[in-house]
Amino acid sequence: MSGFGDLRELYQEVIFDHNRKPRNFHVLDPCTHQADGHNPLCGDQLTVYARVAGDVVEDVSFIGHGCAISKASASLMTEAVKGMKTGEVENLFRDMHAMLTEAHPDRDLGKLEVLSGVREFPARVKCATLAWHTLHNAITQASETAKTE
Ligand code: ZN
Repeated sequence: MSGFGDLRELYQEVIFDHNRKPRNFHVLDPCTHQADGHNPLCGDQLTVYARVAGDVVEDVSFIGHGCAISKASASLMTEAVKGMKTGEVENLFRDMHAMLTEAHPDRDLGKLEVLSGVREFPARVKCATLAWHTLHNAITQASETAKTE
């Protein structure tokens, strides 16, 4: 089983790297959609921004703070969904959730598979899915939500 151990180390390295140097870690200006996400179990707090033109997610970014899993997952997500159609993002959101909670996802999720080990730690699943839930909320809500203050 040494091969499995090596794979695991590689996955951890990718997660550490994305935690140390999160990709697309900034406010997106201008953006058409944004949402806040909070995982009180761990204290993870994220804001996800998206610029959607037609049905294409042209750009996506995030800011916030949290544990390594939540940040790495958000960072990997921004890389994965940039340029996708919103319908594809929704499919990927569903498949990510399946990968993190079920033994066998329907398809190969490429680089996002580095997060598959989280499945063995149910308490961390919310950390890994936080950014995805937040993006989902951002792109499914009306683009110009009025703020009262
Ligand atoms: Zn967390």
